[in-house]
Amino acid sequence: MSKNQGEWKNTGAQSAPENKKKRYRRKRKSASIYFLLWTVFSAFAFLMLLLFGITQYVVTAQVFKGEAARDVGDKGQRIQKELSAPLPSTENFSIYVERLAHRYDVSVVLFNAEGDVLLPKPQEGDSAAITKKQANKLLQELSKREEDSVVYEGDGEYVYGAELKGIDGSVSYLYVAKSLELFETANESMGIRLLLASLFTFVLAFAVASAVSGWLTRPIAEITQKSRRLAEGDFDVDFHGNDYGEELASLADALNFARDELSKTDAMQKELIANVSHDFKTPLTMIKAYASMIKEISGANPEKREKHAQVIIDEADRLTALVTDVLDLSKMRSGLETIRKESVDISTAVEEILSRFEYLESEHGYILESHIERELYTVGDSVKLEQVLYNLIGNAVNYTGADKKVFVNLCKIDDTLFRFSVTDTGEGIAEDELSTIWDRYYRSSQAHKRPVKGTGLGLSIVKTVLQKHGFAFGVESRQGEGSTFYVDFPMEGENA
Ligand code: ADP
Repeated sequence: MSKNQGEWKNTGAQSAPENKKKRYRRKRKSASIYFLLWTVFSAFAFLMLLLFGITQYVVTAQVFKGEAARDVGDKGQRIQKELSAPLPSTENFSIYVERLAHRYDVSVVLFNAEGDVLLPKPQEGDSAAITKKQANKLLQELSKREEDSVVYEGDGEYVYGAELKGIDGSVSYLYVAKSLELFETANESMGIRLLLASLFTFVLAFAVASAVSGWLTRPIAEITQKSRRLAEGDFDVDFHGNDYGEELASLADALNFARDELSKTDAMQKELIANVSHDFKTPLTMIKAYASMIKEISGANPEKREKHAQVIIDEADRLTALVTDVLDLSKMRSGLETIRKESVDISTAVEEILSRFEYLESEHGYILESHIERELYTVGDSVKLEQVLYNLIGNAVNYTGADKKVFVNLCKIDDTLFRFSVTDTGEGIAEDELSTIWDRYYRSSQAHKRPVKGTGLGLSIVKTVLQKHGFAFGVESRQGEGSTFYVDFPMEGENA
């Protein structure tokens, strides 16, 4: 059974991280950067071409048609004028009209009120130069506008029309037309050119998208792969992004920073486990040893038994304090515990805490000097803030010098702030340790005698509580001269 259990556990232990890895791979399929870039480029190019094509068509059409209308109007008028002038005697009228058409590069037709073409004379088998429909349209336009001459857009042509009166009083109509064929051909070829340009643009978008996406995705793929290694616990990975623009450079910087922090946390966690197990083991060993002693040796001797039992009680107290601190800290760090907001009389709190240390003065020769201004209130969690004050005073007592002096000060800085500070005359803290002492389980290498029991979590609790309150705090220390720890409390009513 136990073998089975072992096997089952093994499989479980192996498959869990695998499952996790899969979970953090891709949950949903998303388009690749290459595809996105290609779509964006192509859409952009397509839109630009469309816009260009439409403007080109509209503008060209307007210009061309305006020009054609003006041209046909102008030429029509001139032809009309020439036809109204007396005909050179040698000239055949029909040839004359033909020449005019040729000279002005337009088609010239004369027809009568019935819409029958008079000139040029339709040849045998050929259809007339204009249809009845075209002739009727001109007549309609003339009567509609009630003018002697008109210019209008016909079917694929621009037309100038006018009424001509013969000397004999007969009425015929002049039909001068300029074909729009040229414009349509130009338009058609522009369409083909635009189509070719579109094709070319798509191919270009394809090429640019491949080049840009390759350039963009290479560092991203590299960073992804390195991040995976980091997630697996390889803290030697180095992220580069400098060659790929500011955004990737700052992403690489952020990841390098995360790697450093992770590696610190990892080291701290290992140290924490080592320290916690050591700190739990020592009192437990003591408890066991003294309990055995009571059982085997001192049981009958009340004096010794008392002494040994006291050791057991003290060690049990240490364990309780340690467990309480570890729990407090975990609860606060995990955010399970909220910080209460109530009015806290810091002056009274400091005095009350100092009174707890009075036995050190009477029994161990410590001198705790204090200067405390009255009525200094802040808003916060009274229990936690008292723990902060207790830890700081306790540390000063623990680490003060041979003169056993500790100075506690509480005074106003201005109308919004007051400062609590506690100074000892101990060996101080080395400069490179000033920032690390606030970390969980940090202990300086120096050995101290400790009248107040420390768990190695005191300053970590101080830091967590004060950060949660948003209060400023810090330490000033000179090696060989002592340290001053301080907290700046906002006056009640001034809290953020
Ligand atoms: P501990 O239980 O070890 O006192 P703390 O978290 O309270 O744990 O303090 C962490 C470390 O910071 C201590 O081990 C000590 O090295 C250093 N430290 C704290 N207070 C003082 C002080 N007043 N003077 C010198 N060193 C101090």
